[in-house]
Amino acid sequence: MATSMLEHAARLGVRPGRLYIDGEWGEPLAGKRWAHVHPATNEEITTIARAEQEDVDRAVRSARRAFDEGPWPHLKARERKRLLQPLIDLVYANASELSDLQTLDNGLPVAFGRSYRVSAEFCADVFDHYFGWIDKITGEVYPQFSEMTPLQYLSFREPVGVVAGINPWNAPLLQFPEKVGPALATGCCIVIKPSEYASLTILRLTELIAELDLPPGVLNVVTGVGSEAGEALVTHPGVDKVSFTGSVAIGKHIVEAGAATLKRVTLELGGKSPAIVFPDIPELVERAAATIAGQVFYGLSGQVCSAQTRAIVHESGYDDFVQHLEARVAAVRQGDPFDEKTTSAPMINKTQLTKVQDFIERGAGDGATILLGGGEPAPELAAGNWVNPTVFVDVPAGSPLVRDEIFGPVLTVIPFRNEDEAVRIANQSDYGLAAGLYTADIARAHRVTRALRAGAVGVNGYSFMPNSPFGGVKSSGLGREGGWSSIEEFTEVKTMAVDLSAG
Ligand code: NAD
Repeated sequence: MATSMLEHAARLGVRPGRLYIDGEWGEPLAGKRWAHVHPATNEEITTIARAEQEDVDRAVRSARRAFDEGPWPHLKARERKRLLQPLIDLVYANASELSDLQTLDNGLPVAFGRSYRVSAEFCADVFDHYFGWIDKITGEVYPQFSEMTPLQYLSFREPVGVVAGINPWNAPLLQFPEKVGPALATGCCIVIKPSEYASLTILRLTELIAELDLPPGVLNVVTGVGSEAGEALVTHPGVDKVSFTGSVAIGKHIVEAGAATLKRVTLELGGKSPAIVFPDIPELVERAAATIAGQVFYGLSGQVCSAQTRAIVHESGYDDFVQHLEARVAAVRQGDPFDEKTTSAPMINKTQLTKVQDFIERGAGDGATILLGGGEPAPELAAGNWVNPTVFVDVPAGSPLVRDEIFGPVLTVIPFRNEDEAVRIANQSDYGLAAGLYTADIARAHRVTRALRAGAVGVNGYSFMPNSPFGGVKSSGLGREGGWSSIEEFTEVKTMAVDLSAG
């Protein structure tokens, strides 16, 4: 690859990362560091602080102090808004740098960094959305139940307390505000643990938050490794709630680890999302092929929780679909993520690269057919973690190719004959995060949407929005984040009963 990522790190002024605890930047107590290696070239970009148990303990105790003893949870709405709202303009003002840092974190091609849902503008809009709730978080007043009791009941929403926010690596500009926004809006204090593979963007966002006048301890950031900093956070008795986005395996572990102190838990986990394509009108088949290829082969190359990796296509539109898919696969361009013409990202690390390669090899070995793509990446890409787009057909039922989340540029295409069969295939999964549906028939759109076991269904397209809920059923998660759902997840309802006869 002609361009080195180091030039971009120098251009962006990237420095070794530190921890942000109790309103101060500092080094981890044991002085350990983690190398941030870029997935496109495997060059070491910089190092980040590798927090361990004692550092996490300092961060949680700081958040506890800010919550239990500080003014933060009790601020009046106007004051909280006044303190937080400058962040929205700060993010907008630094949008281009933040977007480039995200590319330096995870290899997202710059051209895709501008697509709305992973952009710095989206990040600002998510903060804007949550800060808008601050003076609208209300409780309820219940009608008095019976004349045999003088009790009047009402309820309040109060902050859940100290939150541990744990992020994956694939969209720091989306996932950081999805944890920090509702936490700060509701009066919680939060300790954020970014992924060890994507800390640069979050450290810069933390610098922006450090420019606000927040009390120390309201936001703390501990970078480091999941099994160390992450584990210390999710087992810490001072944490009231864990908001986790990541893999199913770690999500299940977090539920177990939090059981002893009955932590509140929100889990945004993985998926194996189906896309059902009804060729009602010819344009729809092309649109479906473009959208599905866009999710699985472009941008993050299928390393997206909601990517529609099982294309379930009506047999009458099957050949047409494959033809359009072929054109999309042929147009994929791998390479320097800072080149505007690059369409697709490498796998985030060597472990993920090997995992995806294994799926492809085993899939082919088990009798599935590679219809499009596959093969070795171009020799000039050898230094990075690249995988060619791969489309499988004739996949045996129960194959890992249709069962497991691969998190790479691998798509299976499955034909169907009628609507019931399509829904049955789509629902044959332990996951239930998102689903796609392509149809021009409005009645079918409603019918099939209701029949699909998924947290979100996109009809003829899909994207995240700051004001709508997202989350999964079955193994894809617990709870919903986004919009008012996050306000509910970051608050507890307190009920008050007043004896109106007492004077
Ligand atoms: P991951 O589960 O490996 O890591 C996620 C985070 O958990 C990281 O910060 C990691 O350091 C931390 N972690 C690891 N071990 C831990 C432990 N023992 N205790 C506490 N924290 C620990 O996931 P990833 O590879 O970063 O991200 C990919 C996964 O995330 C995929 O499964 C993807 O589908 C999912 N994801 C889901 C959503 C969603 O909204 N549903 C969004 C993005 C990604």
